[in-house]
This record gives sequence, C-alpha cells and structure tokens, in this order.
Amino acid sequence: MGIDTYIFDKGDMPTLPKLQKTVRQCMKCDLAKTRKKVVFGEGNPNARLVFIGEAPGEDEDIQGRPFVGKAGKLLDQLIERIGLRRSEVYICNVLKCRPPNNRDPEPPEVEACKDYLLAQLNLIKPRIICTLGRHAYNTLFSVDERITRIRGILTSYHGTTLLPTYHPSYLLRNGGRIKEAWEDMEKLKELLKG
Ligand code: URA
Ligand code: SF4
Repeated sequence: MGIDTYIFDKGDMPTLPKLQKTVRQCMKCDLAKTRKKVVFGEGNPNARLVFIGEAPGEDEDIQGRPFVGKAGKLLDQLIERIGLRRSEVYICNVLKCRPPNNRDPEPPEVEACKDYLLAQLNLIKPRIICTLGRHAYNTLFSVDERITRIRGILTSYHGTTLLPTYHPSYLLRNGGRIKEAWEDMEKLKELLKG
C-alpha cells in the first residue's frame, strides 16, 4: 500500500497513537475550521477486519468517535451478524472531520485526508477491508462507481481482500436493501474463517 512515512518524523517509529496525535492537530483542509472534534477511528489496532465509512456526522463530531449515531447502531448490528464485537474490528472514515450539514466530501478534502486512511491501513494490516458506501470504495480505487454496481463484489486492494457494501445511513433510508447487507456480512464471516 506504500506507507506515507512523511506523515511521521524521521526516525520515529510509526504507530497508530502517533498518527492519531498528528491527525488531531490537522489543518490541511477547510473542515478543520468547522469541526468540533477530529474523528480518527477506533478499535482493535490488530484487527483482521477494517470498516471504512464516509465522514463523521453530528454525533461523531461531538463525541470524537466513529459511527456512534443512528447509522452506528446499525453498523453494530451488522458487525454482530459476522459474530464479532465492535472492539474486535477497526472502524474509521475517509474524512476525519465532519463536513457541514453532512454534505458529501469534496475532492480536495478527500485528497488532503486520504494519506491518513492509507497510513491507518498500513499500520493495521487487516486481512479484509469492508467499505461502507461509495465514497470509501471510490477513494481507495480513485474511481467514480455507483454503490449499486459494486456492492457485494469481492475484490482486492493491493493484495488485501475488499468487500464493498452499503453505507448504514443508506440502509436506514432504503430498508429494502438490508437483505443484501446481511448477505455481505455472511460473506465476511466465511472469509474470516478461511
Ligand atoms: N457516517 C459515516 O460515514 N461515518 C461515521 O462515523 C458516522 C456516520
Ligand atoms: Fe485534516 Fe482530514 Fe480534517 Fe481535513 S478532514 S482537516 S485533511 S483531518
């Protein structure tokens, strides 16, 4: 994945806590002006499975933790379906700061923030990545796909198994899609056995 070592000081061993310290002070894009708290991500630093969402929402911005609002409750249920606890996986977002009114991330913001996500993945080295919604997938692959086209199709990100699924917020608005999300969780369960 090509770790972006310039995020760290020379001679400094990169670790997740050190990266978090850097990101907490980040001013690389305009979202720094409107955020309340930076949402770095959380979970098992040695997780075999990493979930990547889009950006913090209102609750996340206040608490400084990923997926703690309504969508987070649904993500917890998806994780349970895999037979895992939230503390066993790692959860983060493409953007570490909340876009005003939860608007979509803008390309310069994604560009500014992407190295942090890549560094997180390099440090955690998960066996499997599950992207939630189109933004995480499109950011990693630098493409512009629709979620309904890519969802459920197993692929590889620099050698790491990657499964794109729906974003929990999308599932809250489109309840009819939940069955496909459960299927994706079953698939993740099987993959983790192997
Ligand atoms: N939506 C996201 O994409 N991420 C969060 O952390 C919360 C809601
Ligand atoms: Fe920095 Fe990312 Fe926050 Fe922008 S969104 S200020 S790049 S941490």
